[in-house]
Amino acid sequence: MRDVLGGMTRPALALALLAAAFGAAAQDFPVDIPGITADPSRPPPVGLLLPEVELPDLVTPLAILDRLVVPGTRLQLEWRPRGGISNAEIASPVVVARGAMAGPVLCLTAGVHGDEINGVEIVRRISHAIDPTRLSGTVIGVPIVNVFGYSRGSRYLPDRRDLNRSFPGTRQGSIASRIADGFFQDIVKHCDMLVDFHTGSFARSNLPQVRADLTNPDVLEFTRGFGATVVLHSPGNRGMLRVAATAVGIPAVTFEAGAPTRLEPAEIAEAVAAIDRLLVKLEMLEDPDAGLAPPTDVAAVALEAPEPAPIFLDSRWVRANSGGLLISQVALGQRVLAGQKLGRVINPVTNVQRYILAPVAGRVIGMAQNQAVLPGYAAFHLGTETSEQQAVSEAAKPHGPEVVAEDSDERPDSVKESDGEDFE
Ligand SMILES: [Zn+2]
Repeated sequence: MRDVLGGMTRPALALALLAAAFGAAAQDFPVDIPGITADPSRPPPVGLLLPEVELPDLVTPLAILDRLVVPGTRLQLEWRPRGGISNAEIASPVVVARGAMAGPVLCLTAGVHGDEINGVEIVRRISHAIDPTRLSGTVIGVPIVNVFGYSRGSRYLPDRRDLNRSFPGTRQGSIASRIADGFFQDIVKHCDMLVDFHTGSFARSNLPQVRADLTNPDVLEFTRGFGATVVLHSPGNRGMLRVAATAVGIPAVTFEAGAPTRLEPAEIAEAVAAIDRLLVKLEMLEDPDAGLAPPTDVAAVALEAPEPAPIFLDSRWVRANSGGLLISQVALGQRVLAGQKLGRVINPVTNVQRYILAPVAGRVIGMAQNQAVLPGYAAFHLGTETSEQQAVSEAAKPHGPEVVAEDSDERPDSVKESDGEDFE
């Protein structure tokens, strides 16, 4: 974690304050500072005793996007890619809540894919709801990273490139690479941790879930803060925002919630609640339940007890083996048994219908919306629960079992049969 005191330790801070208080006069006689002097038997000069009170952590204004955000305030700034790329576009809003107390910088980003608007609302809601006077640390919310795609209702940039395959980017690269570089330098470099919000893609929907590289200890620790949210091991693809951020020492995860092109209140609320829990876990906000009397009767205790965060590792996509109209018979989040019917595919020409069966027991963590499909279409994503310990040891294996693959849709030929079809 970055030193929020700007590298200034407490003794150094005390010295600096003393030097400022006494100025040149302090050089006219030897100064012994209590607690720092090598000779504790000598009494300190009169008037130089430090007060007994704890020095509060120093919170400085945050310098970002050519502005200063002072502690205890929120400021909405604008970000534009450098080099005149965005002349005709709206600016990307950047909401900075600088806490009154010291703490880490948590960045929340969404809309890297412009059609994934659940995340836009999630980040907007959290960023504007946080009370900076009660916050320890800083929350930087960027609800619409890819304003180009957002204004067109598109996943992509104007050149059809995927911004989430372009990080950290370069100054001299493609349009996507330059936009990524600008965002990385202007925003991401300020973060101590980052959550990037996405949804399922191409008419698929995801149960709210964190995707993280569990082989990275800092990322693993970060995932423990989301409470009862599904966590999937996923090393991610080159060019993803979370992969690039983690590579420079900023633990980062993707948070998937729902489907693209729509606003889903339940998924949005679940994600907002997960971030609220994260802020408490990171000690950036006080636990609203702290200090409340614990429930006394057993039933109430059972209701109050938080569900442990399940971790799914052995996830797999179940495909349609015939073409036609896909109609699901399960819901997101539902637990299914091996052999259970997940849905059916009806051929409207031959009037034949076939069922898609669950090959294993598990929980539906992603699924296609009802639609016309071709044989081979990935229709249901099943996750099998495992322990954190098991998830981490499986993730560490060089050729572990199938994990959530996130191959780029720009290279469909490279997608292996065993790969999933989740495009973060
Ligand atoms: Zn996405």
